[in-house]
Amino acid sequence: MIENNRIEHPVSAAVATSAAQRHAAVDPAHAFAAARAAQAREPFPDWPLRTRRLHALEALIRDNHDAIVAAISADFGRRPAEETELLEIFPSVSCIRHALKHGRRWMRPRRHWAGFWFLPARTEILPQPLGVVGIIVPWNYPLYLAIGPLIDALAAGNRVLMKMSEYTPRFSALFAELVAKHFPAGEVAVINGDAGVARTFAALPFDHLLFTGSTAVGREVMRAAAANLTPVTLELGGKSPAIIGPHARFEHAVERIMVGKLLNAGQTCIAPDYVLLPRERVPAFIDAARAIVATLYPQLASNTQYASIASDRHYARLTSLRDAAVASGATAHALADVPTNPATRVFPPTLLSGVDEPMRVMQEEIFGPLLPLVAYATLDDALAYVAAHPHPLALYVFDDDRTTVDTTLARTLAGGVSVNDTILHIAQHHLPFGGVGASGMGAYHGEDGFRTFSRMKPVFRQARWNATGALNPPYGNTFRRMIKILLGR
Ligand code: NAD
Repeated sequence: MIENNRIEHPVSAAVATSAAQRHAAVDPAHAFAAARAAQAREPFPDWPLRTRRLHALEALIRDNHDAIVAAISADFGRRPAEETELLEIFPSVSCIRHALKHGRRWMRPRRHWAGFWFLPARTEILPQPLGVVGIIVPWNYPLYLAIGPLIDALAAGNRVLMKMSEYTPRFSALFAELVAKHFPAGEVAVINGDAGVARTFAALPFDHLLFTGSTAVGREVMRAAAANLTPVTLELGGKSPAIIGPHARFEHAVERIMVGKLLNAGQTCIAPDYVLLPRERVPAFIDAARAIVATLYPQLASNTQYASIASDRHYARLTSLRDAAVASGATAHALADVPTNPATRVFPPTLLSGVDEPMRVMQEEIFGPLLPLVAYATLDDALAYVAAHPHPLALYVFDDDRTTVDTTLARTLAGGVSVNDTILHIAQHHLPFGGVGASGMGAYHGEDGFRTFSRMKPVFRQARWNATGALNPPYGNTFRRMIKILLGR
């Protein structure tokens, strides 16, 4: 499916270059050496120190709220302040609070008795910082996808190096400045630059590397990490289906799918990528979606609450996906009147009916407000379709019948699922977030993120008085008696 799903998005080349130059000063190898040295000085930060770091992160966000919103808006061209607040600032702050509330417990060793034959020894699992962690950030939610993994890595007591996206030059420059102001070098450092810098970054001998981005670049990152045996968490993309079952509350399903799809104008890794629905409901979906879009975004073309497409190249890619589908026989249903204008990059929410498997729009991750409607004859066909494709990052199922939902859950594999809604599973602190197969590996968020960035180190503590010496060589009668008991003979 998404072999070539890298989303291209050159912003103004001049801005990107100047931002890259300004931050070329932070040399990745130098920053890594500083982090490694700092970690060696203090390999196991206590909870008060980790708390201070998390508070510093919260202050960084709170004190610079307006600048953050403005930088991201400027990078996108038009990113509503409300979306940045709801989808980036709120989850970031909320995850920090969750880590502050539970981190001390996550850090505690988990103690147990040893197995029966080893008593009275004890065992424990000791969560230990891995050391120096790398985080590579994409452009679509540049704050949250930087802060989210950073919280987990800091809560777990690590030093962190971050590579921000070159396609959000204003925000990446601001973030580098703010981090430098709030954290000593060696604790957290931000490296900005182009794909060449990204390659150098991924080749550093990190103790763990978390990458968020496309499947194609994810492969390169994993290859680079393999040279150092650096473990990776890959947070990738893909085509996330929304399935409308036979017993769905139809209007509700259409509304939640359109809301989830149109946040950030569809430039969301877990946005519904296509809809599987009963064949006879296709016309009703188009009518309901048109009405909902008119309610959500009146006068959409000039409505500043609807995000623009982040770059010229990405806008052109979406246009060509739509046009190629139409040329191959699909019908495009624009849900709002928007004059084609590559200068403003406002792309109308558009449904595509009559799509076919070979169309590019059914092969590539869409990452924009185009939504193919894939009609099914039976739910069985729909589930078989999903199962025959690479495992998606998210799956949405709309149905009020428990058995239908459970069957869907059992027959499909996905990174995460929301039932009767879209997007919201990502916002649950107690759920791990990550993909499976082509949509990624590993997970983070909350305690799962803490574990991702910790060595959950098993420790066996022998008791002073114990019987293990009875099994020492030379093996004689005592050994034979003991082994009979152990083998249950
Ligand atoms: P991308 O893969 O083009 O770039 C992501 C980051 O990787 C950037 O910082 C870039 O500088 C860096 N990079 C580029 N080449 C590299 C290389 N050879 N080695 C190491 N790093 C390199 O992705 P993007 O276009 O910024 O983001 C869009 C993609 O990200 C979509 O596929 C989307 O689904 C996915 N995504 C996934 C999640 C998730 O949580 N799973 C979240 C957001 C976006």
